[in-house]
Amino acid sequence: MRSEQPSLFPGMTGPSPAPPAYAPFLPGVRAEESFLELRDLASLQQVMRECRRCGLRSGCRQMVFADGDPQASLMLVGEGPGQTEDELGLPFVGRAGQLLNQILAAIALRREEVYITNVVKCRPPGNRLPTPAEVLACRGCLEAQIRLVRPRIIVCLGLLATRTVLDPRATMGAARGQWTTRQGIQVIATYHPAALLRNPQYKRPAWNDFKSVRARLEEAAHGN
Ligand code: SF4
Repeated sequence: MRSEQPSLFPGMTGPSPAPPAYAPFLPGVRAEESFLELRDLASLQQVMRECRRCGLRSGCRQMVFADGDPQASLMLVGEGPGQTEDELGLPFVGRAGQLLNQILAAIALRREEVYITNVVKCRPPGNRLPTPAEVLACRGCLEAQIRLVRPRIIVCLGLLATRTVLDPRATMGAARGQWTTRQGIQVIATYHPAALLRNPQYKRPAWNDFKSVRARLEEAAHGN
């Protein structure tokens, strides 16, 4: 039988409101792709170890999940693992990774202080770019990483990361160096370190982008 006792909170009867629906961060991702049931990065990494959603896993040694601080303010997103990354199981550890470490050091950051990952987690054969279908298969993992790390700033390294994170129609010419804020996270696109190795003329604009990242991190640290 129902109790007739008066409510302690008049006007607040009935079921509590449903939690707000999850709004994915990446363009085009559906909430159900986002591993919403997973509450930590270790669980996500475990799930991704078994992933066979696209054909890349059958041609690589291992899934390369991420490196760095899971609570970092700064997240760096590249394209996909290369040969050295595939061998060692860590992103950005080849020549491009060494250059990235130098760039980070130049803005007074250690690699261990940032969170580094890629759009796809398995090495494309011959270091080719991932296909749109492979990006589609893997982007839910990146979405979940962004949700679980919740960085203040994301840097998209190269066109593929820029199109995956910011806008599928983006061009580097228009997007590079421009700040966008989405869901409270500031995002900037810059050149991939591998492109800097091939094109020394990109180094100066990339350096300006990373100086801008340093300035935004300091503003965030001071609560601006
Ligand atoms: S690239 Fe991503 S989607 Fe494809 S098998 Fe590897 S982890 Fe799974």
